[in-house]
Amino acid sequence: MTSRIFKILFIAVSVAAIFSGLCANESRKAKYIFLMIGDGMGSNHRAIASTYLKATTNRKMIMDSFPVKNLTVTDSLSGTTDSAAAGTALACGVKTQNGMLGITPDGKKVNSVAVDAQNAGLKVAIMTDVPINHATPAAFFAHSAKRNLYSEISRCIPESGFDIFTGTSFLVSKGEHSPEKFLSKKGYRIINDFDVFKNLQKGSEKIIFIHDIPYVIDTPASPQITLAGKLSKVIELIKSDTGFFIMVEGGKIDWAAHNNDLANTVKETVAFDDAVKVAYDFYRAHPGETLIVVTADHDTGGLVLTDNTAGAAEVINAQWCSKAELLNNLISLKKSAAPFEQALKIIVENYGLKNLKESNIAQLKQAYDIFLSSNQKTLLPEELKKMYGMQNPVISICSQISDDRAGIKWNTRGHSGTPVTTTAIGIGSEIFSRDMDNTELPGLIKQLLPPHPDN
Ligand SMILES: [Zn+2]
Repeated sequence: MTSRIFKILFIAVSVAAIFSGLCANESRKAKYIFLMIGDGMGSNHRAIASTYLKATTNRKMIMDSFPVKNLTVTDSLSGTTDSAAAGTALACGVKTQNGMLGITPDGKKVNSVAVDAQNAGLKVAIMTDVPINHATPAAFFAHSAKRNLYSEISRCIPESGFDIFTGTSFLVSKGEHSPEKFLSKKGYRIINDFDVFKNLQKGSEKIIFIHDIPYVIDTPASPQITLAGKLSKVIELIKSDTGFFIMVEGGKIDWAAHNNDLANTVKETVAFDDAVKVAYDFYRAHPGETLIVVTADHDTGGLVLTDNTAGAAEVINAQWCSKAELLNNLISLKKSAAPFEQALKIIVENYGLKNLKESNIAQLKQAYDIFLSSNQKTLLPEELKKMYGMQNPVISICSQISDDRAGIKWNTRGHSGTPVTTTAIGIGSEIFSRDMDNTELPGLIKQLLPPHPDN
């Protein structure tokens, strides 16, 4: 008898435990998910951007105020990762070779967490401030052995069926057409006009919004289009009862860091943080249902902060144009064979190099003379020039002076293998509170997806 009562009690307690466990699990599901990826945004990029913000606005970066933090390892099967392998790791949870998108090294297609989210009934948006079929966003919807098979990658969009894509353009493979016609035939409404996008009403239409976002540093005050502004609109368009998954990439942080352009890197990181703030404001309105994860695909530039970065904020503030734009200015000066004094004026005003020492001016003059007399033609295609600029003797000297004043150093013009910082807030975010490999991230997000509404 006693043992029977004990058995019944045991079963009752077990059932209660399982039931309460299920309830606890249910309540740990995220209805609204933001996965925000700063391309190339190493931990030190975040640190120096925070220093800059603190000095200029007396506030922290929003992404650094999140309670959950970890270091995320980024290497790929090729060693130091590129954005394709890192994107595949963050989107699909598998390690692959550099250059590969949404496939394993032996060519098997793997689905991204965005597809899992869609299967769970969430609406999906893929957002970037670089081309839509660039490596990081592409890892969420495409499968390709090579990241530069742009037309093949674009053709994966209709198959994904995702609700909204935003970016600056589509890269097109040589000899191929722009994919816009194909995509609109497949049911996507292509919008190029910001006013049309701004005035869109919520509906069932699938949207691709293409509009350039220049570097923040090269944009005159109060730019009309920002990643943050686009995110606000996208949230408005896809917020639904079944929830959403939005991937937002700050893609130009990587380009600026490839150029070893400190002020540009910092301002792009801050612009990305403005988008994080939009997600954070949404979280504050829906705290029990929202998850935000902010990470990076890898570090670009191997940025080092020395023991004297006290002058960094001032140096960053003083620079008014990107190195890429300064290069354009220098090319124009060369075309008109402008005298050094004229070039110096532009360098001082736009690049913020005030109070130059005589020795610095001599270095700049020498570099300018070399530049004027060289007939070196760049072999880089336009897109690469825009991304990476090119080594130019004048810019090289400008960098030396400004990096020295800011107390920073760059280790490479490529990617580094240093782990990146991931921060998170919201429902279920505590599962990100340990150091991890980048391939673990999408699996953890998947754990927090709600069950499909029809199940
Ligand atoms: Zn890169």
